[in-house]
Amino acid sequence: MPITKNSVVAFAYTLTDDGGEVLDSADTQNPLAYLHGHGQLIAGMEKALAGREVGDQLSIVLPPEEAYGIYDENLAGAVPRSAFHGADAVEVGMQFQMEFPGGLKVVTVREVDGQHVTVDGNHPLAGETLHFDIEVVSIRPATKDEIEHRHAHGAGGAH
Ligand code: ZN
Repeated sequence: MPITKNSVVAFAYTLTDDGGEVLDSADTQNPLAYLHGHGQLIAGMEKALAGREVGDQLSIVLPPEEAYGIYDENLAGAVPRSAFHGADAVEVGMQFQMEFPGGLKVVTVREVDGQHVTVDGNHPLAGETLHFDIEVVSIRPATKDEIEHRHAHGAGGAH
């Protein structure tokens, strides 16, 4: 069966950036599973996978606008350490919610010094052109639960 809306698809992939550095991967033994047609993957990936069959291999290149967005400098900057008065410790890699003109955003701590904390509200892959090499490992119809939850269950799925 080809991949259509409400297919549960398992796929292996290698994700590399423009420089060829591997950012993420899953092999055919431990593929990633998703429910097709519910926005679980970024739109460009779902579009490329639609209609594919088990065993199909494809390579796609997604510019930032079709992946995790353009890097927005307004979402990154240094804030006084005192702004984190509620937190016991502030360390690189920790995530906090912060108020932005557009509402609350999750920011990741990039740097901490004596008085300042540099935070970044961009997705870690914002600004990156993504290169995916994909192999479709399996395709099956979704269960009722999966369609209700809007994600895939079982190996490689959500839970
Ligand atoms: Zn579920």
